[in-house]
Amino acid sequence: MKESLETLRAEFAYEKTNSCVQCGYCLPVCPTYASMGKETHSPRGRINLVKMVGEGRITDLSVLEEPLDLCLGCRNCETACPTGVEYGVILEAARAALVRRKTFSAPVRMLRNTMFTKVFPSKKMMRLAGNALWLYERTGLQTAIRKSGLLNKLPYHVGAFEAITPGAASPAERKQMPQRIQAKGQAKYTVAFFTGCIMDAMFQRINRLSVQLLTEAGCSVVVVPEQTCCGALHAHAGEMDEARKLAERNIAAFEKESVDFIVNNAGGCGAALYEYAHLLADEPEWSERAQAFTEKSRDISQVLTACGGLHLQPRPGERVTYQPSCHLTNVQKVTREPIELIRSVPGIEFIGMEQAHMCCGSAGIYNLVHYEQSMDILDEKMKHTKATKADVVITTNPGCLLQMKMGIEREGQAVSMRAVHLVEYLAEAAGIS
Ligand code: SF4
Ligand code: SF4
Repeated sequence: MKESLETLRAEFAYEKTNSCVQCGYCLPVCPTYASMGKETHSPRGRINLVKMVGEGRITDLSVLEEPLDLCLGCRNCETACPTGVEYGVILEAARAALVRRKTFSAPVRMLRNTMFTKVFPSKKMMRLAGNALWLYERTGLQTAIRKSGLLNKLPYHVGAFEAITPGAASPAERKQMPQRIQAKGQAKYTVAFFTGCIMDAMFQRINRLSVQLLTEAGCSVVVVPEQTCCGALHAHAGEMDEARKLAERNIAAFEKESVDFIVNNAGGCGAALYEYAHLLADEPEWSERAQAFTEKSRDISQVLTACGGLHLQPRPGERVTYQPSCHLTNVQKVTREPIELIRSVPGIEFIGMEQAHMCCGSAGIYNLVHYEQSMDILDEKMKHTKATKADVVITTNPGCLLQMKMGIEREGQAVSMRAVHLVEYLAEAAGIS
């Protein structure tokens, strides 16, 4: 059945494409345009495709699939756009519209359903995954499987990712995260800590250090037990209904506590939390509550800075660079605080990275599903990273952290260079383990 243009326009956010004047200022800042060199893989080209759908000039919607699929969603194009095109809104709407019409094979549909509705939103399932990873690392299975060469035969380049997965927390360590922790000394703020799903399963140590840094800086911290996944992965995959359900669950969970800020330590999750107001803008029961949630949402670097920083030990002569998370920079607009915190470590030499604003190619699960394209983008990033001759590369998102670790391995730089999360670096400098 032929769909009306009105329906297509509403679903694909056609009206938003009208602000694009086709100037092309966004092209040089788009990593996929830089690496693939095709107009259809640029912001302007993607906007044009959506525009043509809304004007009935494209009727075969499958034409949009590859260009939109290969977009990183980094939203760097928005920062260069003189007319303020809301590219993120167009991308999100178009992806959701395509997913609604797509017929997935039965196994793919089952996998998507399981991951999006049963695994990511469930603390229990994510913790089971974290515990399984811990067992894999601790029982000798990891060594045996690495020796067997099996990893290189698995799909999605699993072997490459396995080599850089962080050491998982033990089940006992996992249980040690208290729900209320008092500030050291007089409390400056009371904050709720957002644990995330993947952060909680695979980067539990960074979560624990985050809470310690917050209390050290003067925050009393609450870890709300009913919280769930932020919904970022769902929104990127066009599963907007599920993303909205998770947003509602989080809003209801965090409303139970009276806090100054809701703090997260992952650029991608933080951007999703920050956009709850936009996500639920048309839901009468939720719009005001979502706005209130968004107003309280902060990256940990903002809160540590607002507290006046930390007491840090000198690290003389250490060369440090910073690879910012796209979602922290382009969505949450947090740029100053991470660098201020890094520079506050006495004795270090901070070296700014050329083209730091360009995505590293991680982008949620982009590096899993588009491995080759992601590695091209990473290789470009590593040219600039190596040029800094840094001892330490600091990131503010788990995906970027793994991607930079992979880049360091690929370039054979692991002897002299390491990638760490900002929280890990500050904790080391504060003497917190
Ligand atoms: S979101 Fe990133 S990859 Fe996608 S069009 Fe914009 S700049 Fe390019
Ligand atoms: S910079 Fe903005 S107006 Fe210019 S082509 Fe890109 S999206 Fe369109």
